[in-house]
Formats: sequence, C-alpha cells, structure tokens
Amino acid sequence: MNTPNWKEVTVKSRVPAELEKLSELARNIWWAWNYEATELFRDLDPTLWKEAGQNPVLLLERMSYEKLEALSKDKVILKRMNDVYAKFRDYMDVTPDNKRPSVAYFSMEYGLNHVLKIYSGGLGVLAGDYLKEASDSNVDLCAVGFLYRYGYFTQTLSMDGQQIANYEAQNFGQLPIDRVTDADGKPLVVDVPYMDYYVHANVWRVNVGRVSLYLLDTDNEMNSEFDRPITHQLYGGDWENRLKQEILLGIGGMLTLKALGIKKDIYHCNEGHAALINVQRICDYVATGLTFNQAIELVRASSLYTVHTPVPAGHDYFDEGLFGKYMGGYPVKMGISWDDLMDLGRNNPGDKGERFCMSVFACNTSQEVNGVSWLHGKVSQEMFSSIWKGYFPEESHVGYVTNGVHFPTWSATEWKQLYAKYFNENFLYDQSNPKIWEAIYNVPDEEIWKTRVTMKNKLVDYIRKQFRETWLKNQGDPSRIVSLLDKINPNALLIGFGRRFATYKRAHLLFTDLERLSKIVNNPDYPVQFLFTGKAHPHDGAGQGLIKRIVEISQRPEFLGKIIFLENYDMQLARRLVTGVDIWLNTPTRPLEASGTSGEKALMNGVLNFSVLDGWWLEGYREGAGWALTEKRTYQNQEHQDQLDAATIYSILETEILPLYYARNKKGYSEGWIKSVKNSIAQIAPHYTMKRQLDDYYSKFYCKEAKRFKELSANDNAKAKEIAAWKEEVVAKWDSIEIVSKEREADIAQGDIESGKEYTITVVVDEKGLNDAVGLELVTTYTTPEGKQHVYSVEPFSVIKKEGDLYTFQAKHSLSNAGSFKVAYRMFPKNQDLPHRQDFCYVRWFV
Ligand SMILES: *Cc1c(COP(=O)(O)O)cnc(C)c1O
Repeated sequence: MNTPNWKEVTVKSRVPAELEKLSELARNIWWAWNYEATELFRDLDPTLWKEAGQNPVLLLERMSYEKLEALSKDKVILKRMNDVYAKFRDYMDVTPDNKRPSVAYFSMEYGLNHVLKIYSGGLGVLAGDYLKEASDSNVDLCAVGFLYRYGYFTQTLSMDGQQIANYEAQNFGQLPIDRVTDADGKPLVVDVPYMDYYVHANVWRVNVGRVSLYLLDTDNEMNSEFDRPITHQLYGGDWENRLKQEILLGIGGMLTLKALGIKKDIYHCNEGHAALINVQRICDYVATGLTFNQAIELVRASSLYTVHTPVPAGHDYFDEGLFGKYMGGYPVKMGISWDDLMDLGRNNPGDKGERFCMSVFACNTSQEVNGVSWLHGKVSQEMFSSIWKGYFPEESHVGYVTNGVHFPTWSATEWKQLYAKYFNENFLYDQSNPKIWEAIYNVPDEEIWKTRVTMKNKLVDYIRKQFRETWLKNQGDPSRIVSLLDKINPNALLIGFGRRFATYKRAHLLFTDLERLSKIVNNPDYPVQFLFTGKAHPHDGAGQGLIKRIVEISQRPEFLGKIIFLENYDMQLARRLVTGVDIWLNTPTRPLEASGTSGEKALMNGVLNFSVLDGWWLEGYREGAGWALTEKRTYQNQEHQDQLDAATIYSILETEILPLYYARNKKGYSEGWIKSVKNSIAQIAPHYTMKRQLDDYYSKFYCKEAKRFKELSANDNAKAKEIAAWKEEVVAKWDSIEIVSKEREADIAQGDIESGKEYTITVVVDEKGLNDAVGLELVTTYTTPEGKQHVYSVEPFSVIKKEGDLYTFQAKHSLSNAGSFKVAYRMFPKNQDLPHRQDFCYVRWFV
C-alpha cells in the first residue's frame, strides 16, 4: 500500500444571508464590551459558545449549516440581532472627531479580550482598555502591535503546585482579525531591514470599535527559521530575539503605517519596547533633506514615552555588539555616526562600556515622558535623573497620568444595569464626572447588597463548575477536592488576590504567620475565604516558588476550602474575580507597583480595596471607602517590613473588616459595609475610568505637543530649522562663555547671610557672540538627614544691561528660613521656543 497524498481543504462556513450581520459583528471586538452583543452570541448556542472559548468567529465556524439555517428562521434571534446591529451601526457611523490631535500608539501587548492571546498582564490590559476608550471617545487613534503565534502561556498546576506553562499555537483563521491588503487588494507584506536582509511581516487588523489595531506577524514562509519566531512569544526567547522584536515593533511599525498611508500628529510609545519608531522617523525626515538636528526637533516634538517600570533593572539594555549587528546600517540614514546613535541610548554619552538602553533612547527622543501614577511619576523622575544632568529629580519634566480602566469592559452587566437605572443617562459619555456617580447614594441598600450577592454566587458557581474538572484531572485525591468544593461558602467574606507572581507583589505576605491566619479563617463567627490566582514568568523561579508554597498551604486541612488557588489568571478570570469577591487585596512592596489597575476594576463593581498605599491606591484611597496599609517604610530590612505589614493585615482584618462585614441587620446585610461600598463608588470610581486617563493624556501631553509640532513644522519646518541652528551655535560657543564678574558673592560664599534679608546679586557674562542665549539662576538646596540634596529655591536673574557681548544679570536673593543651605549659580541656554530645560540640557554651575 502506498501512503495517501493528503490534500488540505479549508471549508469556509457559509452563513445564511439572514445572519450576515452576525459575521460582521463577530469581526469587530466591540462585542466584547457590549453585553447585548456578547449575550446574543452566547444564546445562539450556549454549549458551543463555551466550547468555542467564547469566540464568536469560531462559534460561527463550528456551527453546522442546519443549525444556522434554523437560527435564520428564529424570529426572536433575528430581532435581537437586528437590535444589536442597529446599535453597532449607530456607534460606527459617527463622523470621526478630528478636533483633537491624532495619535499612533505602539505597544508590545494588547489585552482586548481573552480570545486574542496577545497580552500577558497589566501593561497589555491597559493598552487594550485604552484603544476601547479611544473608540468610545471617538478620537483619531490607530495602534500597532504583534500577532503572536503562541501568545502568553496558559497555566496549569501539577499536584504539588508546580506551574506548567503550555503554549498553544493560535489558528489565525479563527480569530476576530482580518488580513490587511494593499491598494491592489493583495495581502500587505511589510519588509523590515535587519542587517543586510529583510524580515517580512504580514499585517493583520483588529477592529476595536472604530479604532484599527495593526498586528505584525513574522511566522510565515517568507522568513527563515531564525526570523519566524520573532512574533512567536510574548517576552520569550533570548536578548537577540527581544532586539529583533523591538526592531519589528518600532521600525516595522512605522513602515507599516507608511505603507498604509497613515500619518498622525502624535507618536505614543507605551513602554520603551517601541522606542525605535524614532529611529525610523528620523530616517524619514533626513531622507527629505533635513539634517539630523532638524529631524530630531520634529520627532521629539511629536513623541510621548510612557514608562511603566519603576526599577532600572526592568528596562531593556542591549550590548553594543548585538545592537550593532542589527542596527549598524541606521546611523548613515540618520545622518549621524555609530557612536552618536549609541550615545542616544546611554546615561553617560561617551562611556563606551555602557550598553544601549531603550528607555534612555526613548527619553532622549521624546519631548514628553510620563509615569503611570503620581508616585510613579516621582519615582521615574528619580530613576531618569542621570539622563538630564544639571537638574534635580524634582525639577524634571517627567510627568504622570494615573492609569484607569475601561468601565464597560470591567463592570459586570448587573452593575451596568444598576447604574443605567439610577445614573444620569449621559453617564457613559461623562463617566469621569463625579457628580453623576454621587447618585449611587440614592440606590437602596438592599439593591446594592442583592447585586453583590448575585455576583458572588455567580463566582462561586463558576469555581465549582470550572475547577472541578481541572482539579480532578491534575490534583489527585477526588475526596479532598469534593470536600474542598463543599467547603466553599458563598456567605463567607470573600477576598481576592490576582496578579502576576512577581516577588515584589508579595503574594506570600498573608502567609507570614500561619497560626494566626488559621485562627482568622477558622473563626466560626466570621468565616472568610481567600482566592489566589496568577502566573509567574516561566524564567522566574522565585515567583513559581511562591505559587507552589500557596498551593501547599491551601492543601493543609486547616486551610482546605479557605485558601484556594485558581489556575490560569487571564482577563476572563480577572473579570469574574473583580466582580465577585467582597474585597480585593494588593500587597506590593512600595513603590514598585507603578500603578496597578485590578483594584480599579474592583471599584466599578462595588468591591472594596484593601491595599498598600502604592500606585493608584495612594491617590485613590479615602477613609470609609476601603482600607490602606501604611505607606511609610519602617524597616530597611525587607523581612522585618514584611512581618510588620503582615501583622497589620491580620489586625485590620480582625478588628475592622470582619466585624464590619458581619454587622448584619435584620434584612441580612451590614449597613456599614454598604455605606463603604457607596463611598467607594461615589468618591473613588469616577477618577479611575479610562476616559479620565485618555482625557488626561490629551490635556497634559497630546494637545500641547501637537500645537508645538505645528509651529515647528509650519513653512517648510522653518521653526525646527531655526531651533536646530540656534542649538548648534550654542553648543559651539558654550565652553567659551565667560563669567566676567560677580558682586555680593562674598555674602553667600562665606555663608554669612541672614534670614529674611534681601541681597542684590549682579553677574556679568560674556556670551561670546551669542545673542541673549544664556539664562542664569541661583539655586539654593538643603540636605535631608539621609544625605539627599533637594532644591529649596531657584532665584532667576534678569538681564538689566547689554553692552556688546557683555550681559549684566541681576537677582534679589533672600532666604526666609534660617538654617544650613547650599547655594550655587546655574547657567543654562535660554530660549522660549524650548518646551522645557531638559530639551536642551546644557548646564554650567559656578559659585
Ligand atoms: C487588570 C489585569 C492585570 C493588571 O492588574 P494589576 O493590578 O496591575 O496586577 C493583570 N492581568 C490581568 C489578566 C488583568 O485583567
């Protein structure tokens, strides 16, 4: 017998004409945040919906023709379809708002829905939420990312709690995505230069409401076996693969937009991974005849870099050799030398030992930089201060926008319906308006309690059903599992903890004193249960160890059914948890939680937060609306700090949370608890919507930058050229500038000044041919007991006389406080066309 020569056949599903609208709805991820659409798909065939992983594209594909035929005659379904479709069209057919600047957004990951496995955690979910809000707010925004073949792993656990990472290939044909075609209708392929060859990327589009997200994919036959894996895994592979990914995202991303004829006002780099967009953008300007110095003025003016990582070790650094291997061809196209390019990624330009840091490059090529909460903004000013020498961290231009969450994605249908009933009808379009949310105080307590109980029961049912199967399969001992499931008590206080298992998140904190914890969970008057979930990075042994420890503890008799670990934390499970628990717990080591967003999701569902005052919670916490773990660090020793923090958690649980929760009235609920829930919704929730975040990006960064970019680029880039020429002249003459004389300096140098007394200081500077290009200020600093120097005051000088090249500066100086200070003069280039000092960071100090 010979072997058959099998031929592949793809059978396309044929959806009856009456149901065509379903196909269109399935191909726009709008359904994921509009529950009528989601429920419509579910109700077509609830069993198949579950089997198809709640993926409407796959659902329609899997549905037999007979079933589709039957549905096409089902009047109720047809009516629902038409209603949903009408809403969809109403949403899609509005005219785009081009009053606000347009934005191109770049990110390594997007969490839009669990069906598209192109996210790993918070960063991705944030980016996905952002696109949805951009669509809802009808702004002109497009985005670029990757279509991963394997995405991030799914997690299972062995019997002893060992994490097993499973990578399943995604079948792109079954995802809610479309191949992007070129003008001739042929599939678009973008050729991205690497060394002396090209990597070829297919381009896919996800319709996120009105927003297009373009996804690049190199896993195709045009590429060699070395390049196909570029888009296999999120944060997988070695440094070489990471660099290849970042070239694809930055340079390939820009080439994709070019191929599609897309130009935007602002280029927004979500985390440093995409920073190489600015290499390509500089090349493009230089190709039109501009110099590097002119080009970078334009590129910076239109770039925003958002940093998410609070520690230097978390950033990407590339060895010069590796970086040169792939990027060696770019300096010529940028109009600079290789060393110049390397220096753009170095804290200390000229230090040949320093590797190329993507974040430093992003800082040097973006006019604006921001962290993702107030505290993280401060931490970032500190972290990046060595880039802008001559200025103290508190003088840094690095700003912040606190992260928010997309309300329609993260609030349960039940809550949406409750809000719709009691809130102003404009609610969705005006979600960040606190006035509207105050209406929660008009909702009867019973209704809030009922909604909470409904959501809790849903979660408990889900756990019983969903995890019974996997646990029986993986965790052995069926009797233990059955007894565990029986022990889950929907009337107990339910506390959730779900996040990446990175050690700084301190998932172990609760388990510091097991004896005390056992007393708490086994108190028959105040039953309480904990749900833990989260993935550890496959290379993070310590994180995996934490999971193992928690699983082990959860199997001990005294904790069985009281501490439960749920596998495979993803957006779907996250939504179940943040809508179903009573309390959301977060215990990071401050200040390592840049923002955190899961607690904000919980807010929208009447769940109370109990967290360390870090990230968003430091801003969000209000007394009587959740609980805070102190912000001050008491011990340098992390172990002692952990012990103290754990003791605080136990004690707040015992003395505040549990008594409040169980202070039940005759109607069966705690009035105090409902009051906290109402406070939390009214006073905190409106400030953490994605709408507020998007509006902040516009008001703090996009609008300002777009305005300046317009000025710089008008009349054939006249202003950009002028600024570049001026900077070149200042650089050339900077070192020759001379301080000719200083008067009254003796008072300061000898330290004999009196508080409250005003001193006039006069300084004469020879600007050596520069035309009023120098500014001068007197900087007074104080030193903290820990030895850190901070700015006390900055006294500007004004020019009072000009004679040839000689400029006379004068300032009046006084200190209102007595004490010990340090003073020095700071000279800097002065030009009102610059956005801030760090834009042109030349500084000379003298005393
Ligand atoms: C929201 C979310 C996160 C981010 O939450 P943190 O508070 O930053 O931990 C991570 N993973 C998933 C699946 C999420 O939905």
